[in-house]
Amino acid sequence: MGGWNIWYALINFAILAVGLYLVGKKLVLNKYKSRRDGIARELEQAEEAGAEAARLDGDLAQAEAAAEAERAALLAQAEAKAREESLQAEEERQAAAEKFRRGEDLERKSLRSRFHRDLNSQAAEGLVKAAGDLIAGEAYAPARRALEASFAAKLEGSFKLPKGEITRIAAAGKAEAELTVAEAAGEAILPAVKETLCRCLRAQGLELGEEQVAVRVKLDSSVLAGAMLRVGDSIFDGTAASMLARAGEAIGGMQAEGDYIQSLRQLLSGADKSLDIYQGGLVTSASDGICRVSGLADTMAGEMLRFEGGIIGMVMDLEKDNIGVVLLGEPDSVHEGDQVRRTERIVQVPVGEAMLGRVVDALGRPLDGKGPIQAESSRPIESPAPGVIQRRPVSVPMQTGIKAIDALVPIGRGQRELIIGDRQTGKTAIAVDAIINQKGKNMLCVYVAIGQKESTVAGVVEKLLSHGAMEYTTVVCASASEPAPMLYIAPYAATAIGEYFMYKGRDVLIVYDDLSKQAVAYREISLLLHRPPGREAYPGDVFYLHSRLLERSARLSQEAGGGSMTALPIIETQAGDISAYIPTNVISITDGQIFLETGLFNAGVRPAVNVGLSVSRVGGAAQPAAVKQVAGPLRMELAQYRELAAFSQFGMELDKATMKAINKGDRLVELLKQPQYAPMDAADQMAAIFAVSEGYADKVAVGDIARFEEGLIAALDQSWPGLRELVASGRKLNPQELEKLRGILAGYSESFA
Ligand code: ATP
Ligand code: MG
Repeated sequence: MGGWNIWYALINFAILAVGLYLVGKKLVLNKYKSRRDGIARELEQAEEAGAEAARLDGDLAQAEAAAEAERAALLAQAEAKAREESLQAEEERQAAAEKFRRGEDLERKSLRSRFHRDLNSQAAEGLVKAAGDLIAGEAYAPARRALEASFAAKLEGSFKLPKGEITRIAAAGKAEAELTVAEAAGEAILPAVKETLCRCLRAQGLELGEEQVAVRVKLDSSVLAGAMLRVGDSIFDGTAASMLARAGEAIGGMQAEGDYIQSLRQLLSGADKSLDIYQGGLVTSASDGICRVSGLADTMAGEMLRFEGGIIGMVMDLEKDNIGVVLLGEPDSVHEGDQVRRTERIVQVPVGEAMLGRVVDALGRPLDGKGPIQAESSRPIESPAPGVIQRRPVSVPMQTGIKAIDALVPIGRGQRELIIGDRQTGKTAIAVDAIINQKGKNMLCVYVAIGQKESTVAGVVEKLLSHGAMEYTTVVCASASEPAPMLYIAPYAATAIGEYFMYKGRDVLIVYDDLSKQAVAYREISLLLHRPPGREAYPGDVFYLHSRLLERSARLSQEAGGGSMTALPIIETQAGDISAYIPTNVISITDGQIFLETGLFNAGVRPAVNVGLSVSRVGGAAQPAAVKQVAGPLRMELAQYRELAAFSQFGMELDKATMKAINKGDRLVELLKQPQYAPMDAADQMAAIFAVSEGYADKVAVGDIARFEEGLIAALDQSWPGLRELVASGRKLNPQELEKLRGILAGYSESFA
């Protein structure tokens, strides 16, 4: 029994031991498994992290590449910009150099032509003097007798008295003549001359006996040889002195140096055959550029007279026994006792295509040193205005390209619109912009500067040149340093130049800058001519001065040529006083005025158009219908705005509607500002005004309006390129088109920031 117990105990122990082992093993296994799982999890996580890191790595590379690309693009952009800038600078430099060269060229050319003129006139003087000395010599006595002897026959061939002279002789019942010869030996021809004269007078219907015709002989060695007969004012000149003088003039006027002797011989051989016939008078007094001339009873008002030395005068005053003449040139070169001769022509200027692109003085002589003008013809500076039948109403627009003017005071072709304002208010700027805006519009322009500084005019010409506007423009300049008569005639001369084109069927724009200076010049002349002063010391006919000038601007009927001349006269006021004498005159002559105000100009509203006082009486008919449709309410809105703005200055509480009107007004005023030399197309003007007045810019800050406008025009260009033609065609926008425009504007103002 004892042995069984031991077995039993051993088996139990073994079972226990196995049990313990199994349990222990399980425990250990469990423990290791969880650890292995943990490690596996960790491994997995590590792997995931590795993948993530790899992905991040890829992103980083991508970002780096993008950054690199961006840097390269920026660099390229900067480089391109730098290159462009340098190109631009180079262009500017070249333009400046070109300008300089052109200026130098002009100067050289004008110097050369002046040199030739000097040379020629000196040569002529010398030749004439030498020839004179030669003729006076003893050896030429037979030639002198022969010249005298031929006088009677030449007289017979060419004697003719003007009507006035015949009337005077008939009334007096006798004729008095004076025969001038060089020396006593010449008196021998007296009987023959007298006989011829009696015969000639009879031929002209004057039945006078021998005793009723008296011929005095005068000895004058300065005539050199030959003879000269004076009957009343008419002179029949067959003297050697006159032939030589004519030859000398012709040589002096030659453009280049030439064979003087040959020319002299040619001229003398021609001159020898005929007499120089003219009406002559004598200067009895000369001062301040005005002279009195005795004789010349038949002259016309406005006629050109020629003084000794080639100076031109214009007849202003016709009195009973003398005439008053203003000198168009150096006043000091005319003296008492000088000879004057009629030209029987009203003062004229050259006209035609050749005048375009040129700068000329009041007599049409070039001032730009580009050589002589080969004009097609010439026109008297004064000519009658077209009559009622020859005119037709204004209906075609003359766009200035300035919003404030084209929208509010539209101008039509053939209209006369006054630009009026104090000094330095932008008057010239408007006129110059209007000229620049005519490019490609089939218009020709004339700008006449009266009494301005030469440097100011040069500035205007430079601007016109640089905007390519000189091609279709003539500039007439009578600067402040010239004698008053030049200032007086300059506008008439310019009008004649424009008129030529108008009667040829072209459209012309003429700018008179400015007529107040012309009125002052005319006052000066009148007072020197002892005409009685009237209001503000102007002579009584100062109204006629401007009315006969501006009446020549018109739109011609088809039968009369179909052309037009639009006039922009400028008047300078003193302290904004438009009720002074000259301003009221010109306001009443013109079809409206653009009133510029110093206050507005200084407040930065440029162009400084006073909308309330500016009007256009006929231009409305010429405004493109689409612009009219849009700009119609503008005048009222602005007027309302001015009232409200004045009211709001009291600092009161304002209701919503008032605030809105003021806000919109602020934006409208801002919109109408425009820089110089930046004319705008009618369609762009229309769209911009429509946008602001319809409230699409209400949320835009006032300072941003210019940017808003610029973007708007670009946007319209893109989304509706046909709009320009539509507006130019002159018809209204129909409701669908208005809707389309509104749609584009809404989209644009939405996106504008
Ligand atoms: P004046 O009485 O001397 O003849 P004006 O009335 O003709 O003067 P402008 O010479 O045209 O005036 O202009 C005066 C000045 O104002 C000039 O310096 C010109 O550049 C400037 N100016 C004119 N219009 C504008 C504008 N729209 N924007 C900016 N500056 C302007
Ligand atoms: Mg000016």
